[in-house]
Amino acid sequence: MTGTTTVRRAGAWIAGQPVSGSATLPVRDPWTDELVAEVALADPEHVEQALQLAHEAAGSLLAVPAHRRADALRQAATGLLERMDEVAATITRESGKPITWSRAEVQRAALTFRWGAEEAVRWSGELQRLDSEPGGDGRLALQRRFPRGPVLGITPFNFPVNLAAHKIAPALAVGAPIVLKPAPKTPLSALLLGEILTDCGLPAGAFSVLTVDDEVAAGLVADPRMPVVSFTGSGPVGWAIRNAVPRKHVTLELGGNAGVLICPDWSSDADLRQAARRIATGANAQGGQSCISVQRVLVDRTVYERFLPVLVEEVEQLVVGDPWSPATTVGPLINRAAAQRIGEWVTAAVAGGARVLTGGTVTDALVSPTVLVDAPADAQVCQDEAFGPVLTVAAVDGVDEGLRALDDSRFGLQAGIFTHDIQTAFRAHRELEVGGVIVGDIPTFRAEQMPYGGVKESGIGREGVRAAMEDYTESRLLVLSGV
Ligand code: NAD
Repeated sequence: MTGTTTVRRAGAWIAGQPVSGSATLPVRDPWTDELVAEVALADPEHVEQALQLAHEAAGSLLAVPAHRRADALRQAATGLLERMDEVAATITRESGKPITWSRAEVQRAALTFRWGAEEAVRWSGELQRLDSEPGGDGRLALQRRFPRGPVLGITPFNFPVNLAAHKIAPALAVGAPIVLKPAPKTPLSALLLGEILTDCGLPAGAFSVLTVDDEVAAGLVADPRMPVVSFTGSGPVGWAIRNAVPRKHVTLELGGNAGVLICPDWSSDADLRQAARRIATGANAQGGQSCISVQRVLVDRTVYERFLPVLVEEVEQLVVGDPWSPATTVGPLINRAAAQRIGEWVTAAVAGGARVLTGGTVTDALVSPTVLVDAPADAQVCQDEAFGPVLTVAAVDGVDEGLRALDDSRFGLQAGIFTHDIQTAFRAHRELEVGGVIVGDIPTFRAEQMPYGGVKESGIGREGVRAAMEDYTESRLLVLSGV
């Protein structure tokens, strides 16, 4: 995969078979800017075939016993691990993600499929007695959740395998067919997933991958055979999808500008070192291209001056550059335009009074990890989603002001709070308008099984295998009389 040969690839995987179309999509290596592959876009008849097969598979997939669907998901996990080198190299080649992080992503995706397998066999229902009130004598209610129908999964470039797994595993676990539309910048690893799921013993149409352009993708969203749209990506695209199909069940996993607060009690040298190390990684790993990358750091004024040099030291220890080196944490951004944009945001913040404590340089698609202080509150680097290796640090006075500042964002994915005080932890949980509060760590923490998602402009609904299974299904009641 590190070679330079351009290959032509089939751009769809339907009913367990690769399908080639006529038009192609170029995939470029962000590190070298070389053309990696020309991926065939699915032709209209392939799109039709995938949608129709998914529609027709809805009944037959649900009839497949849970243990066989669990076997298929375990097979996906095993297949990913067996082909770890190839899948991880593909991710690095098409996205520039450092190879160590690509391998970690493959491990995580295998875990996501394993969770799907486990949850598939646990997924049952709930009995409720109805004779607890007069009128319900001899009656019993059985509540089960059934798929809302086939799922259209749309994924972004930054975790091309694990975010696909987060849509496929819960869909197959509940017995819902899924059509996956991967990001055009990173289709190759998703197509490998299609290959890995071949011969998994599920009905044709249970799972397809379609590489299409965004116009065709909008048509997929509108298609009545796809009643569930599970979208992960940027806010403007996500909210446009939601507005285009208001009657559909739409889940939006969008972006953010995640914040972390260091409280006054998090004050020993070891505390500050630990927070700095975690923040340095959480802000910069894989070029800060995570929806929960640390972007805003709020530090209690009593520890602010001591914290800054420790943070800078930790950031400067990160290995930046060649994504193929196992030591690298910060590789290139997805393309040069993305790096250029970060450079412009930093320049604008500096013009508004910000100081660069470290970083701030852009070379091709590489941005050096950047720490800013005194950034004006209205700077884009504070207000918008950076999606790059840049963070701002500001001092706050006390927990009240700290929590207010942490919550002062249009977004609401996750927040981190460094405190030893359990009352402050509970208070943050009560008061912060976010999808999750991470205590004693950065907002970037995510485990595959935990419910994950955002509020405000960061989205609607939750992923995490079990949460997505609930999302893809609707409760239906069976009331039995005379029992
Ligand atoms: P993007 O919004 O540009 O693209 C996401 C997907 O939407 C791609 O597959 C794209 O082809 C597709 N798309 C574009 N226009 C469409 C249309 N009209 N109809 C249907 N599909 C369309 O996002 P990106 O640049 O690939 O990814 C980065 C973004 O994803 C960031 O904002 C990041 O925060 C977000 N993200 C969120 C999460 C989360 O779980 N909340 C996770 C990862 C990334």
